[in-house]
Amino acid sequence: MMKVLLAAINAKYIHSNLAVYSLKGYAPSYGESICIGEYTINQSVDDILIELYKEAPDVLCFSCYVWNVIYIKQLIVEVKKVLPDVEIWLGGPEVSYHGVRFLENCPQAKGIMLGEGEETFLELMHYYLGKKGSLDEIKGIVYRSEDGLEEKPVIKENGWRPVIDMNTIPFVYSDIEKFKHKIIYYEASRGCPFSCSYCLSSVEKCLRFRDIDLVKKELQFFIDKEVPQVKFVDRTFNCRHDHAMAVWSYIAEHDKGKTNFHFEVAADMLNEEEICLIETMRPGLIQLEIGVQSTNLKTIKEIRRMMSFEEVSRKVSRIHASGNVHQHLDLIAGLPYEDYESFRKSFNDVYALHPEQLQLGFLKVLKGSHMYKMSAKYQLQYQDRPPFEVLSTRWLTYQDVIRLKGIEEMLEVHYNSGQFDRTLRLLEPEFSDAFSLFEELSRYYVDNGLDKVNHSRITRYEVLFDFAVKQNEKKKEDFRKSLIIDLYLRDNIKNRPSFAGEPTITKEDAAQFYDEEHIRHNYLKGYEAYDKRQMRKMTHLEKMDGKLVLFDYMNKSVLNNQASVFYI
Ligand code: SF4
Repeated sequence: MMKVLLAAINAKYIHSNLAVYSLKGYAPSYGESICIGEYTINQSVDDILIELYKEAPDVLCFSCYVWNVIYIKQLIVEVKKVLPDVEIWLGGPEVSYHGVRFLENCPQAKGIMLGEGEETFLELMHYYLGKKGSLDEIKGIVYRSEDGLEEKPVIKENGWRPVIDMNTIPFVYSDIEKFKHKIIYYEASRGCPFSCSYCLSSVEKCLRFRDIDLVKKELQFFIDKEVPQVKFVDRTFNCRHDHAMAVWSYIAEHDKGKTNFHFEVAADMLNEEEICLIETMRPGLIQLEIGVQSTNLKTIKEIRRMMSFEEVSRKVSRIHASGNVHQHLDLIAGLPYEDYESFRKSFNDVYALHPEQLQLGFLKVLKGSHMYKMSAKYQLQYQDRPPFEVLSTRWLTYQDVIRLKGIEEMLEVHYNSGQFDRTLRLLEPEFSDAFSLFEELSRYYVDNGLDKVNHSRITRYEVLFDFAVKQNEKKKEDFRKSLIIDLYLRDNIKNRPSFAGEPTITKEDAAQFYDEEHIRHNYLKGYEAYDKRQMRKMTHLEKMDGKLVLFDYMNKSVLNNQASVFYI
Protein backbone atom coordinates (compact mmCIF):
# COMPACT_ATOMS: atom_id res chain seq x y z
CA MET A 1 0.00 0.00 0.00
CA MET A 2 1.29 3.46 -0.86
CA LYS A 3 1.91 5.84 1.98
CA VAL A 4 1.54 9.61 2.00
CA LEU A 5 3.07 11.66 4.80
CA LEU A 6 1.96 15.22 5.51
CA ALA A 7 4.83 16.85 7.36
CA ALA A 8 4.46 20.00 9.45
CA ILE A 9 7.54 21.66 10.86
CA ASN A 10 6.27 24.03 13.51
CA ALA A 11 8.05 26.95 15.14
CA LYS A 12 7.42 25.60 18.65
CA TYR A 13 6.29 22.35 20.21
CA ILE A 14 3.15 24.00 21.56
CA HIS A 15 1.98 24.93 18.04
CA SER A 16 -0.01 22.60 15.83
CA ASN A 17 -0.44 22.83 12.09
CA LEU A 18 -4.09 23.13 11.13
CA ALA A 19 -3.34 22.85 7.40
CA VAL A 20 -2.06 19.27 7.41
CA TYR A 21 -4.99 18.07 9.51
CA SER A 22 -7.40 19.82 7.22
CA LEU A 23 -5.89 18.20 4.12
CA LYS A 24 -6.03 14.74 5.64
CA GLY A 25 -9.57 15.31 6.87
CA TYR A 26 -10.65 16.36 3.39
CA ALA A 27 -9.54 13.03 1.93
CA PRO A 28 -11.21 10.57 4.33
CA SER A 29 -11.60 7.78 1.79
CA TYR A 30 -7.82 7.29 1.84
CA GLY A 31 -7.85 6.96 5.65
CA GLU A 32 -4.82 5.04 6.84
CA SER A 33 -2.74 5.68 3.73
CA ILE A 34 -2.30 9.31 4.78
CA CYS A 35 -0.27 10.03 7.91
CA ILE A 36 0.71 13.24 9.66
CA GLY A 37 4.11 14.02 11.16
CA GLU A 38 4.60 17.14 13.28
CA TYR A 39 8.12 18.30 14.07
CA THR A 40 9.70 21.59 15.16
CA ILE A 41 12.46 23.77 13.76
CA ASN A 42 14.24 23.25 17.07
CA GLN A 43 14.95 19.66 16.09
CA SER A 44 18.05 19.10 14.00
CA VAL A 45 17.63 18.36 10.29
CA ASP A 46 19.29 14.99 10.97
CA ASP A 47 16.75 14.07 13.65
CA ILE A 48 13.83 14.73 11.34
CA LEU A 49 15.60 12.98 8.49
CA ILE A 50 15.80 9.83 10.61
CA GLU A 51 12.11 10.06 11.45
CA LEU A 52 11.11 10.59 7.83
CA TYR A 53 13.32 7.72 6.72
CA LYS A 54 11.65 5.41 9.26
CA GLU A 55 8.24 6.48 7.96
CA ALA A 56 9.39 5.65 4.41
CA PRO A 57 6.58 7.50 2.62
CA ASP A 58 6.02 7.25 -1.13
CA VAL A 59 4.70 10.80 -1.23
CA LEU A 60 5.93 13.43 1.21
CA CYS A 61 4.18 16.80 1.52
CA PHE A 62 5.51 19.80 3.43
CA SER A 63 3.59 22.80 4.70
CA CYS A 64 5.84 25.83 4.01
CA TYR A 65 5.88 29.19 5.75
CA VAL A 66 8.33 32.04 5.78
CA TRP A 67 9.82 30.78 9.04
CA ASN A 68 10.35 27.13 8.07
CA VAL A 69 11.03 27.16 4.34
CA ILE A 70 14.84 27.35 4.60
CA TYR A 71 14.74 24.42 6.97
CA ILE A 72 12.54 22.42 4.61
CA LYS A 73 14.81 23.17 1.65
CA GLN A 74 17.80 21.84 3.59
CA LEU A 75 15.85 18.82 4.70
CA ILE A 76 14.55 17.73 1.33
CA VAL A 77 18.05 17.76 -0.18
CA GLU A 78 18.94 15.02 2.30
CA VAL A 79 15.57 13.26 2.08
CA LYS A 80 16.04 12.69 -1.62
CA LYS A 81 19.42 11.04 -0.94
CA VAL A 82 18.05 8.48 1.48
CA LEU A 83 14.60 8.05 -0.09
CA PRO A 84 15.39 8.61 -3.78
CA ASP A 85 11.99 7.48 -5.02
CA VAL A 86 9.87 9.64 -2.76
CA GLU A 87 7.75 12.27 -4.53
CA ILE A 88 8.02 15.55 -2.62
CA TRP A 89 5.20 18.10 -2.73
CA LEU A 90 5.15 21.50 -1.10
CA GLY A 91 2.32 23.85 -0.19
CA GLY A 92 1.63 26.99 1.82
CA PRO A 93 1.96 30.74 1.32
CA GLU A 94 5.73 30.73 1.07
CA VAL A 95 5.78 28.65 -2.11
CA SER A 96 2.44 29.51 -3.73
CA TYR A 97 3.20 32.85 -5.36
CA HIS A 98 6.34 31.97 -7.28
CA GLY A 99 5.84 28.27 -7.79
CA VAL A 100 7.71 27.88 -11.07
CA ARG A 101 10.79 29.74 -9.85
CA PHE A 102 10.72 27.82 -6.60
CA LEU A 103 10.65 24.46 -8.40
CA GLU A 104 13.46 25.55 -10.73
CA ASN A 105 15.63 26.16 -7.67
CA CYS A 106 14.49 23.09 -5.81
CA PRO A 107 15.11 20.04 -8.01
CA GLN A 108 14.20 17.62 -5.21
CA ALA A 109 10.54 18.66 -5.22
CA LYS A 110 8.04 17.11 -7.58
CA GLY A 111 5.49 19.86 -7.30
CA ILE A 112 3.73 22.64 -5.43
CA MET A 113 0.10 22.97 -4.39
CA LEU A 114 -0.90 26.59 -4.89
CA GLY A 115 -3.05 28.46 -2.38
CA GLU A 116 -5.86 26.70 -0.59
CA GLY A 117 -4.90 23.03 -0.56
CA GLU A 118 -7.84 20.78 0.34
CA GLU A 119 -9.37 20.08 -3.07
CA THR A 120 -5.99 19.99 -4.83
CA PHE A 121 -4.65 17.52 -2.28
CA LEU A 122 -7.72 15.33 -2.66
CA GLU A 123 -7.18 15.16 -6.40
CA LEU A 124 -3.51 14.39 -5.87
CA MET A 125 -4.57 11.52 -3.63
CA HIS A 126 -6.92 10.26 -6.37
CA TYR A 127 -3.89 10.29 -8.63
CA TYR A 128 -1.39 8.62 -6.26
CA LEU A 129 -3.57 6.39 -4.09
CA GLY A 130 -6.66 5.94 -6.26
CA LYS A 131 -4.57 5.58 -9.44
CA LYS A 132 -7.00 7.84 -11.27
CA GLY A 133 -6.39 10.63 -13.78
CA SER A 134 -3.16 12.44 -14.48
CA LEU A 135 -1.32 15.41 -13.01
CA ASP A 136 -2.19 17.40 -16.14
CA GLU A 137 -5.81 17.46 -15.04
CA ILE A 138 -5.26 18.71 -11.51
CA LYS A 139 -5.87 22.42 -11.09
CA GLY A 140 -3.87 24.39 -8.55
CA ILE A 141 -0.49 22.72 -9.05
CA VAL A 142 2.90 23.50 -10.51
CA TYR A 143 4.87 20.32 -11.12
CA ARG A 144 7.74 18.64 -12.84
CA SER A 145 6.33 16.62 -15.68
CA GLU A 146 8.11 13.51 -16.91
CA ASP A 147 5.62 12.20 -19.40
CA GLY A 148 8.29 10.89 -21.75
CA LEU A 149 7.50 13.37 -24.47
CA GLU A 150 10.24 15.76 -23.42
CA GLU A 151 13.90 14.86 -23.07
CA LYS A 152 14.09 16.10 -19.49
CA PRO A 153 11.41 17.04 -16.97
CA VAL A 154 9.65 20.31 -17.66
CA ILE A 155 7.82 22.45 -15.19
CA LYS A 156 4.14 22.76 -15.93
CA GLU A 157 1.65 25.09 -14.31
CA ASN A 158 -2.00 24.13 -14.27
CA GLY A 159 -3.27 27.47 -12.96
CA TRP A 160 -5.08 28.28 -9.74
CA ARG A 161 -8.35 26.63 -8.80
CA PRO A 162 -11.50 28.36 -7.54
CA VAL A 163 -11.82 28.58 -3.77
CA ILE A 164 -13.91 26.02 -1.93
CA ASP A 165 -17.04 26.33 0.18
CA MET A 166 -15.86 26.60 3.79
CA ASN A 167 -18.62 24.32 5.00
CA THR A 168 -16.99 21.40 3.20
CA ILE A 169 -13.86 21.70 5.32
CA PRO A 170 -13.80 19.01 8.01
CA PHE A 171 -13.55 19.66 11.72
CA VAL A 172 -10.17 18.18 12.61
CA TYR A 173 -10.21 18.15 16.41
CA SER A 174 -12.65 15.32 17.19
CA ASP A 175 -9.76 13.38 18.72
CA ILE A 176 -8.81 16.27 20.98
CA GLU A 177 -6.49 14.13 23.13
CA LYS A 178 -3.96 14.30 20.30
CA PHE A 179 -3.76 18.06 20.80
CA LYS A 180 -3.22 18.04 24.53
CA HIS A 181 -0.76 20.79 25.58
CA LYS A 182 -1.05 22.39 22.12
CA ILE A 183 -2.59 25.65 20.99
CA ILE A 184 -5.65 24.90 18.89
CA TYR A 185 -6.00 26.87 15.64
CA TYR A 186 -9.46 27.33 14.24
CA GLU A 187 -10.83 29.07 11.18
CA ALA A 188 -14.36 30.37 10.76
CA SER A 189 -13.54 32.41 7.67
CA ARG A 190 -10.96 32.62 4.90
CA GLY A 191 -9.77 35.63 2.95
CA CYS A 192 -9.60 39.27 3.89
CA PRO A 193 -11.54 42.16 2.34
CA PHE A 194 -8.59 44.54 2.75
CA SER A 195 -5.58 45.21 0.56
CA CYS A 196 -2.58 45.94 2.78
CA SER A 197 0.35 46.05 0.44
CA TYR A 198 2.77 43.92 2.49
CA CYS A 199 0.34 41.09 3.14
CA LEU A 200 -0.32 37.96 1.12
CA SER A 201 -3.83 37.60 2.54
CA SER A 202 -4.76 40.60 0.42
CA VAL A 203 -3.82 38.78 -2.80
CA GLU A 204 -6.59 36.17 -2.84
CA LYS A 205 -9.58 38.21 -1.83
CA CYS A 206 -12.59 35.91 -1.77
CA LEU A 207 -13.84 36.31 1.75
CA ARG A 208 -15.90 33.30 2.87
CA PHE A 209 -17.45 32.20 6.14
CA ARG A 210 -18.20 28.87 7.69
CA ASP A 211 -21.84 28.44 8.53
CA ILE A 212 -22.46 29.95 11.95
CA ASP A 213 -24.37 26.91 13.27
CA LEU A 214 -21.42 24.72 12.43
CA VAL A 215 -19.07 27.20 14.08
CA LYS A 216 -21.18 27.26 17.26
CA LYS A 217 -21.22 23.47 17.44
CA GLU A 218 -17.45 23.34 17.11
CA LEU A 219 -16.90 26.09 19.67
CA GLN A 220 -19.13 24.20 22.08
CA PHE A 221 -16.86 21.20 21.59
CA PHE A 222 -13.81 23.25 22.63
CA ILE A 223 -15.68 24.70 25.60
CA ASP A 224 -16.86 21.25 26.73
CA LYS A 225 -13.37 19.79 26.37
CA GLU A 226 -11.99 22.71 28.38
CA VAL A 227 -9.33 23.44 25.77
CA PRO A 228 -7.08 26.16 27.28
CA GLN A 229 -6.66 28.28 24.15
CA VAL A 230 -8.27 28.47 20.72
CA LYS A 231 -6.67 30.85 18.23
CA PHE A 232 -8.87 31.97 15.38
CA VAL A 233 -6.72 32.29 12.27
CA ASP A 234 -9.36 34.44 10.52
CA ARG A 235 -7.52 37.36 9.00
CA THR A 236 -9.85 40.14 10.18
CA PHE A 237 -12.29 38.41 12.45
CA ASN A 238 -14.69 41.33 12.87
CA CYS A 239 -14.95 42.29 9.19
CA ARG A 240 -18.57 41.07 9.26
CA HIS A 241 -20.43 42.42 12.23
CA ASP A 242 -23.22 39.80 12.48
CA HIS A 243 -20.68 36.97 12.30
CA ALA A 244 -18.45 38.47 15.00
CA MET A 245 -21.44 39.17 17.24
CA ALA A 246 -22.78 35.65 16.81
CA VAL A 247 -19.44 34.07 17.79
CA TRP A 248 -18.73 36.42 20.69
CA SER A 249 -22.27 36.16 22.07
CA TYR A 250 -22.08 32.39 21.86
CA ILE A 251 -18.80 32.02 23.72
CA ALA A 252 -19.86 34.59 26.32
CA GLU A 253 -23.12 32.72 27.00
CA HIS A 254 -21.61 29.23 27.01
CA ASP A 255 -18.31 30.01 28.74
CA LYS A 256 -17.24 27.51 31.38
CA GLY A 257 -14.37 29.63 32.63
CA LYS A 258 -11.62 27.51 31.10
CA THR A 259 -11.09 28.45 27.46
CA ASN A 260 -9.46 31.56 26.06
CA PHE A 261 -10.26 32.60 22.48
CA HIS A 262 -7.83 34.69 20.46
CA PHE A 263 -8.96 36.93 17.56
CA GLU A 264 -7.22 39.22 15.11
CA VAL A 265 -9.42 42.27 14.72
CA ALA A 266 -9.51 45.67 13.10
CA ALA A 267 -10.09 47.67 16.28
CA ASP A 268 -11.42 50.74 14.48
CA MET A 269 -14.23 48.61 13.06
CA LEU A 270 -15.49 47.46 16.45
CA ASN A 271 -18.92 48.98 16.89
CA GLU A 272 -20.82 49.98 19.99
CA GLU A 273 -22.72 46.71 20.26
CA GLU A 274 -19.53 44.65 20.02
CA ILE A 275 -17.67 46.76 22.56
CA CYS A 276 -20.58 46.62 25.01
CA LEU A 277 -20.55 42.85 24.72
CA ILE A 278 -16.77 42.63 25.12
CA GLU A 279 -16.94 44.78 28.25
CA THR A 280 -19.18 42.22 29.93
CA MET A 281 -17.00 39.19 29.20
CA ARG A 282 -15.20 37.13 31.80
CA PRO A 283 -11.63 38.41 32.20
CA GLY A 284 -9.48 36.21 29.99
CA LEU A 285 -12.33 34.83 27.85
CA ILE A 286 -10.99 36.58 24.77
CA GLN A 287 -7.79 38.27 23.71
CA LEU A 288 -7.40 40.61 20.79
CA GLU A 289 -4.56 41.11 18.36
CA ILE A 290 -4.70 44.45 16.61
CA GLY A 291 -2.44 45.49 13.75
CA VAL A 292 -1.73 49.21 13.87
CA GLN A 293 1.55 49.06 11.91
CA SER A 294 2.04 52.84 11.78
CA THR A 295 0.24 56.00 12.78
CA ASN A 296 1.83 58.07 10.00
CA LEU A 297 -1.04 59.01 7.68
CA LYS A 298 1.12 59.04 4.57
CA THR A 299 2.40 55.57 5.41
CA ILE A 300 -1.07 54.20 6.10
CA LYS A 301 -2.31 55.51 2.77
CA GLU A 302 0.68 54.22 0.85
CA ILE A 303 0.37 50.69 2.26
CA ARG A 304 -3.33 50.78 1.39
CA ARG A 305 -4.60 50.28 4.88
CA MET A 306 -8.05 51.48 5.77
CA MET A 307 -7.43 52.46 9.33
CA SER A 308 -8.34 55.39 11.46
CA PHE A 309 -5.87 55.49 14.33
CA GLU A 310 -8.13 57.88 16.16
CA GLU A 311 -10.83 55.21 16.17
CA VAL A 312 -8.35 52.45 17.07
CA SER A 313 -7.17 54.57 19.94
CA ARG A 314 -10.66 55.28 21.22
CA LYS A 315 -11.71 51.64 21.10
CA VAL A 316 -8.52 50.13 22.47
CA SER A 317 -8.68 52.60 25.38
CA ARG A 318 -12.25 51.70 26.11
CA ILE A 319 -11.52 47.99 26.18
CA HIS A 320 -8.40 48.65 28.25
CA ALA A 321 -10.50 50.53 30.78
CA SER A 322 -12.81 47.57 31.24
CA GLY A 323 -9.74 45.55 32.30
CA ASN A 324 -10.91 42.16 31.09
CA VAL A 325 -9.24 41.69 27.71
CA HIS A 326 -5.58 41.17 26.86
CA GLN A 327 -4.79 43.39 23.87
CA HIS A 328 -1.78 42.85 21.65
CA LEU A 329 -0.92 45.72 19.29
CA ASP A 330 1.48 45.44 16.37
CA LEU A 331 3.77 47.98 14.72
CA ILE A 332 5.89 47.43 11.63
CA ALA A 333 9.20 49.24 11.08
CA GLY A 334 10.44 49.75 7.53
CA LEU A 335 7.22 50.84 5.85
CA PRO A 336 7.22 53.53 3.14
CA TYR A 337 7.43 57.14 4.37
CA GLU A 338 8.25 55.94 7.88
CA ASP A 339 11.67 57.25 8.91
CA TYR A 340 13.23 56.90 12.35
CA GLU A 341 11.54 59.99 13.77
CA SER A 342 8.17 59.14 12.28
CA PHE A 343 8.49 55.63 13.72
CA ARG A 344 9.22 57.21 17.09
CA LYS A 345 5.84 58.91 16.84
CA SER A 346 4.06 55.70 15.80
CA PHE A 347 5.65 53.93 18.73
CA ASN A 348 4.71 56.64 21.23
CA ASP A 349 1.13 56.81 19.94
CA VAL A 350 0.64 53.08 20.40
CA TYR A 351 2.58 52.88 23.66
CA ALA A 352 0.29 55.52 25.12
CA LEU A 353 -2.58 53.05 24.83
CA HIS A 354 -0.77 50.72 27.26
CA PRO A 355 -1.64 47.46 25.54
CA GLU A 356 -0.70 44.27 27.36
CA GLN A 357 1.68 43.49 24.48
CA LEU A 358 3.27 45.83 21.95
CA GLN A 359 5.05 44.01 19.19
CA LEU A 360 7.64 45.87 17.18
CA GLY A 361 8.01 43.86 13.98
CA PHE A 362 10.08 44.55 10.87
CA LEU A 363 8.73 44.62 7.35
CA LYS A 364 9.02 41.35 5.47
CA VAL A 365 9.05 41.78 1.72
CA LEU A 366 7.07 38.77 0.56
CA LYS A 367 7.06 37.63 -3.03
CA GLY A 368 3.61 38.08 -4.47
CA SER A 369 2.79 41.11 -2.32
CA HIS A 370 2.32 44.62 -3.66
CA MET A 371 5.22 45.72 -1.43
CA TYR A 372 7.48 43.36 -3.36
CA LYS A 373 6.50 45.04 -6.61
CA MET A 374 7.20 48.46 -5.12
CA SER A 375 10.61 47.54 -3.72
CA ALA A 376 12.57 49.52 -6.32
CA LYS A 377 10.49 52.66 -5.80
CA TYR A 378 10.89 52.41 -2.03
CA GLN A 379 14.57 51.43 -2.41
CA LEU A 380 13.92 48.45 -0.22
CA GLN A 381 16.94 46.39 0.70
CA TYR A 382 15.95 43.19 2.40
CA GLN A 383 17.36 39.77 3.15
CA ASP A 384 17.70 37.45 0.18
CA ARG A 385 16.61 34.57 2.39
CA PRO A 386 13.44 34.06 4.41
CA PRO A 387 12.04 35.88 6.30
CA PHE A 388 13.08 38.58 3.72
CA GLU A 389 13.26 41.16 6.46
CA VAL A 390 13.96 44.80 5.63
CA LEU A 391 17.55 46.06 5.95
CA SER A 392 17.06 49.62 4.73
CA THR A 393 14.58 51.75 2.82
CA ARG A 394 14.50 55.17 1.19
CA TRP A 395 13.53 56.50 4.60
CA LEU A 396 15.42 54.25 6.99
CA THR A 397 19.15 53.42 6.97
CA TYR A 398 20.56 50.10 8.10
CA GLN A 399 21.99 52.00 11.08
CA ASP A 400 18.41 53.01 11.99
CA VAL A 401 17.27 49.41 11.62
CA ILE A 402 20.03 48.29 14.01
CA ARG A 403 18.90 50.90 16.54
CA LEU A 404 15.30 49.74 16.20
CA LYS A 405 16.39 46.14 16.70
CA GLY A 406 17.98 47.16 19.98
CA ILE A 407 14.78 48.93 21.01
CA GLU A 408 12.70 45.90 20.07
CA GLU A 409 14.87 43.72 22.30
CA MET A 410 14.46 46.13 25.23
CA LEU A 411 10.73 46.29 24.65
CA GLU A 412 10.46 42.51 24.71
CA VAL A 413 12.53 42.15 27.86
CA HIS A 414 11.06 45.03 29.83
CA TYR A 415 7.58 45.75 28.52
CA ASN A 416 6.20 42.61 26.92
CA SER A 417 7.54 40.38 29.67
CA GLY A 418 5.25 42.32 32.03
CA GLN A 419 8.00 42.03 34.66
CA PHE A 420 8.81 45.71 35.12
CA ASP A 421 5.45 47.45 34.82
CA ARG A 422 5.72 49.71 37.83
CA THR A 423 9.33 50.61 37.36
CA LEU A 424 8.76 51.52 33.71
CA ARG A 425 5.95 53.81 34.71
CA LEU A 426 8.22 55.43 37.27
CA LEU A 427 10.98 55.81 34.71
CA GLU A 428 8.87 57.27 31.90
CA PRO A 429 8.85 60.87 33.28
CA GLU A 430 12.65 60.84 33.21
CA PHE A 431 12.51 60.84 29.38
CA SER A 432 10.96 63.08 26.78
CA ASP A 433 8.89 60.14 25.52
CA ALA A 434 8.50 56.37 25.91
CA PHE A 435 10.51 55.64 22.78
CA SER A 436 13.48 57.53 24.26
CA LEU A 437 13.34 55.39 27.37
CA PHE A 438 13.81 52.19 25.36
CA GLU A 439 16.32 53.92 23.08
CA GLU A 440 18.44 54.95 26.09
CA LEU A 441 18.08 51.56 27.70
CA SER A 442 19.29 49.92 24.52
CA ARG A 443 22.26 52.30 24.37
CA TYR A 444 23.05 51.55 28.01
CA TYR A 445 23.14 47.82 27.26
CA VAL A 446 25.49 48.37 24.31
CA ASP A 447 27.77 50.86 26.10
CA ASN A 448 28.19 48.47 29.02
CA GLY A 449 28.66 45.35 26.93
CA LEU A 450 25.42 43.94 28.34
CA ASP A 451 23.91 43.25 24.94
CA LYS A 452 26.27 40.36 24.26
CA VAL A 453 25.49 38.43 27.42
CA ASN A 454 22.69 36.07 28.43
CA HIS A 455 21.07 37.48 31.53
CA SER A 456 19.26 35.73 34.33
CA ARG A 457 15.95 37.16 35.37
CA ILE A 458 17.47 38.64 38.52
CA THR A 459 20.31 40.29 36.59
CA ARG A 460 17.75 42.09 34.44
CA TYR A 461 16.35 43.69 37.62
CA GLU A 462 19.84 44.64 38.75
CA VAL A 463 20.67 46.21 35.38
CA LEU A 464 17.42 48.15 35.32
CA PHE A 465 18.06 49.38 38.85
CA ASP A 466 21.52 50.70 37.90
CA PHE A 467 20.11 52.26 34.74
CA ALA A 468 17.24 53.91 36.63
CA VAL A 469 19.51 55.33 39.33
CA LYS A 470 21.78 56.72 36.61
CA GLN A 471 18.81 58.64 35.23
CA ASN A 472 17.83 60.14 38.56
CA GLU A 473 19.89 59.45 41.68
CA LYS A 474 17.30 61.25 43.82
CA LYS A 475 14.68 58.63 43.05
CA LYS A 476 16.95 55.73 43.98
CA GLU A 477 14.79 54.59 46.86
CA ASP A 478 11.60 54.80 44.77
CA PHE A 479 13.20 52.73 42.03
CA ARG A 480 14.39 50.18 44.57
CA LYS A 481 10.92 49.77 46.01
CA SER A 482 9.14 49.58 42.69
CA LEU A 483 11.58 46.95 41.45
CA ILE A 484 11.00 44.88 44.58
CA ILE A 485 7.27 45.08 43.93
CA ASP A 486 7.73 44.18 40.26
CA LEU A 487 9.90 41.26 41.28
CA TYR A 488 7.40 39.78 43.72
CA LEU A 489 4.40 40.45 41.51
CA ARG A 490 5.79 37.76 39.22
CA ASP A 491 7.21 35.18 41.60
CA ASN A 492 7.72 34.37 45.20
CA ILE A 493 11.48 34.43 44.65
CA LYS A 494 13.86 32.93 47.17
CA ASN A 495 17.08 34.80 46.34
CA ARG A 496 16.76 38.56 46.33
CA PRO A 497 18.96 40.75 44.14
CA SER A 498 21.56 42.73 46.06
CA PHE A 499 19.82 46.11 45.67
CA ALA A 500 16.71 44.73 47.41
CA GLY A 501 18.58 44.03 50.68
CA GLU A 502 17.06 41.81 53.34
CA PRO A 503 13.26 41.94 53.91
CA THR A 504 12.53 44.59 56.50
CA ILE A 505 9.58 42.82 58.05
CA THR A 506 10.35 41.23 61.39
CA LYS A 507 9.55 37.59 62.08
CA GLU A 508 7.21 38.72 64.84
CA ASP A 509 5.23 41.05 62.55
CA ALA A 510 4.92 38.35 59.91
CA ALA A 511 3.84 35.75 62.46
CA GLN A 512 1.24 38.11 63.88
CA PHE A 513 -0.14 38.85 60.40
CA TYR A 514 -0.53 35.19 59.40
CA ASP A 515 -1.97 34.26 62.83
CA GLU A 516 -4.77 36.69 62.21
CA GLU A 517 -5.15 36.12 58.48
CA HIS A 518 -5.43 32.40 59.04
CA ILE A 519 -8.54 33.02 61.14
CA ARG A 520 -10.13 35.98 59.36
CA HIS A 521 -9.08 35.68 55.70
CA ASN A 522 -9.37 39.42 55.26
CA TYR A 523 -7.22 39.37 52.14
CA LEU A 524 -6.24 35.83 51.17
CA LYS A 525 -9.25 34.15 49.57
CA GLY A 526 -9.08 30.51 48.56
CA TYR A 527 -6.51 29.64 51.27
CA GLU A 528 -9.08 28.23 53.68
CA ALA A 529 -7.72 24.69 53.39
CA TYR A 530 -4.18 25.73 54.34
CA ASP A 531 -2.61 26.26 57.75
CA LYS A 532 -0.77 29.48 58.58
CA ARG A 533 2.68 28.03 57.86
CA GLN A 534 1.54 26.95 54.40
CA MET A 535 -0.13 30.32 53.81
CA ARG A 536 3.11 32.05 54.66
CA LYS A 537 5.02 29.89 52.20
CA MET A 538 2.49 30.40 49.42
CA THR A 539 2.48 34.19 49.69
CA HIS A 540 5.01 36.95 50.28
CA LEU A 541 4.97 39.78 52.78
CA GLU A 542 7.15 42.91 52.57
CA LYS A 543 7.23 45.99 54.73
CA MET A 544 7.48 49.28 52.89
CA ASP A 545 6.98 52.80 54.21
CA GLY A 546 5.46 51.42 57.38
CA LYS A 547 2.88 49.36 55.47
CA LEU A 548 2.63 45.67 54.85
CA VAL A 549 2.62 44.65 51.20
CA LEU A 550 1.08 41.25 50.65
CA PHE A 551 1.50 39.25 47.42
CA ASP A 552 -1.10 36.57 46.71
CA TYR A 553 0.06 34.06 44.08
CA MET A 554 -3.06 31.93 44.12
CA ASN A 555 -5.08 34.77 42.64
CA LYS A 556 -3.02 35.93 39.69
CA SER A 557 -4.37 38.23 37.00
CA VAL A 558 -5.38 36.32 33.87
CA LEU A 559 -4.37 39.32 31.78
CA ASN A 560 -0.79 39.77 32.93
CA ASN A 561 -0.12 36.81 35.23
CA GLN A 562 0.75 39.11 38.12
CA ALA A 563 0.00 38.25 41.72
CA SER A 564 -2.75 40.14 43.52
CA VAL A 565 -1.22 42.70 45.83
CA PHE A 566 -2.57 44.31 48.99
CA TYR A 567 -1.19 47.33 50.81
CA ILE A 568 -2.14 46.90 54.43
S1 SF4 B 1 -2.73 42.85 6.99
FE1 SF4 B 1 -4.62 42.05 7.87
S2 SF4 B 1 -6.20 43.50 7.20
FE2 SF4 B 1 -4.44 43.80 5.84
S3 SF4 B 1 -4.81 42.48 4.08
FE3 SF4 B 1 -3.54 41.34 5.53
S4 SF4 B 1 -4.98 40.17 6.74
FE4 SF4 B 1 -6.15 41.79 5.70
